[in-house]
Amino acid sequence: MTNASSTLLHHIGADDVPSDSGAVFALRSPTNGSLVAQVARGSGVEVDRAVASARAAFDAWSVVPAPARGEVLFRAAALLQSRKDAIAEVMAREMGKRLEEARGDIQEAIDTAYYAGSEGRRLFGHTAPSELSDKMGFTLRRPIGVVGVITAWNFPVAVPSWKILPALLCGNTIVWKPAEEAPASGAMFAQALWDAGLPPGALNIVHGFGEEVGAAIVAHPDTRVLAFTGSTPVGRAIAETGGRMLKRVSLEMGGKNPVIVMPDADLGLAVDGVLWGAFGTAGQRCTATSRLIVVGDVHARMIATLVERAKAMRLGDPLDAATEVGPLVSEAQRSRVHGFVERAIAAGATLRCGGGLPTEPSLQGGWFYPPTVIDEVARGSELAMSEVFGPVLAVIRASSFDEAIEIANEVPFGLSSSIYTRDVNQAMRAVHRLQSGITYVNAPTIGAEAHFPFGGVKDTGNGHREGGWGPYEFFTEIKTVYIDYSGTLQRAQIDNREG
Ligand code: NAD
Repeated sequence: MTNASSTLLHHIGADDVPSDSGAVFALRSPTNGSLVAQVARGSGVEVDRAVASARAAFDAWSVVPAPARGEVLFRAAALLQSRKDAIAEVMAREMGKRLEEARGDIQEAIDTAYYAGSEGRRLFGHTAPSELSDKMGFTLRRPIGVVGVITAWNFPVAVPSWKILPALLCGNTIVWKPAEEAPASGAMFAQALWDAGLPPGALNIVHGFGEEVGAAIVAHPDTRVLAFTGSTPVGRAIAETGGRMLKRVSLEMGGKNPVIVMPDADLGLAVDGVLWGAFGTAGQRCTATSRLIVVGDVHARMIATLVERAKAMRLGDPLDAATEVGPLVSEAQRSRVHGFVERAIAAGATLRCGGGLPTEPSLQGGWFYPPTVIDEVARGSELAMSEVFGPVLAVIRASSFDEAIEIANEVPFGLSSSIYTRDVNQAMRAVHRLQSGITYVNAPTIGAEAHFPFGGVKDTGNGHREGGWGPYEFFTEIKTVYIDYSGTLQRAQIDNREG
């Protein structure tokens, strides 16, 4: 889907279809405003049709042996590998991620496909002895039905793959609404599954906006499971509807991730990590490093180098290999980010670098924002507490390890965290005390691997994890089976008790 003259359509059953209304929206590059594609703009009508298609496909897909379902995922992984560069280019064009990072995004989906495919030969249940003779008990994992998947734009392939691939492996069928800012690379990911032999209706896509398509998927009585990645307010609303309708809901939401640097740390390593964590993907990661908590004299020894390196980072076209920071996803996102910076400075924080719209002529066509370091950010202030989702690093001072942990934990979010120290005792104390789903030691807050659980605590999540083994529990129902081979009526709790 690289031809700007074509329209990206919904995919329902075996077919690419336009909206009934004929409505489309323009997908434009955040780098230069060029048209990437026209995209069909769906509504509840297409959602109804897609859910019906997923329901119809469920009966056949759910009885395909799990190892055979896994083989479809293996073939999709190989196709994604062969199409990696082409998908990465579309991703870079549609949402501004640098090519190298876009390839990483797709690699995450490839890794997930291999992991999920191999789960087809596990999907373990339990066995346990019965309390009665000649009787046994065991559990099976059963598919649930139609899963509604709603995803954010910042990982257009990796994040959907975390939901879609395990859900399919477990025998469910899907209606997916990709983010409206990045639907084209997501459609190429789905194409690999269809080309790999996924039967029609097992994965349906309805493109469009949250209130029009996402809300219809959430409220549809036949989407028994909802898997969402996005902002906390939207996740909360989805959980409310899902709760009322007794749906199973998994939510991956915002972050405000801290890096603590202790005085004994390797400061060169810490600077490298903070730059990558804060400014990789232009800070538009749920796991982005957005707070640097410097302890004791680290401030004096680290900030000047950090600022010098941040200033030197090269903004530009994500398709250019020399670019270090691409554009923000939209004008609205850039205004939002700039607003945080302006208010922080007005509140008394110190701007160390960045903080203004670029003036270079080559950057005028896109939504670029420079790496920004804001020092002396007060605890409890807006910039210390709110997710920015842009290349803005808030520096906060702490006088001790204990105070640093307290600062790290005082935000509502809890996705990722990090500590730089050479003291193993201190590192382990931090691992236990930091309130986050992920903690790194001597590495930045970003860099999840497909076979480890990913997710957050507090307002970041609702207790589920993606990646690793958790999704196979989330996307299945447990069936307990008892087999009595005694040939007599045996009554548990009664016949094996005296009196
Ligand atoms: P968003 O919540 O605005 O949108 C996410 C998705 O939800 C989009 O597909 C959108 O169309 C849809 N949506 C919006 N309103 C809806 C509604 N009323 N009903 C149903 N669906 C609706 O999020 P965003 O701003 O696009 O993405 C950035 C956010 O995503 C950040 O907060 C970031 O931290 C978070 N994120 C979290 C993770 C994670 O795994 N924790 C990963 C990536 C991004």
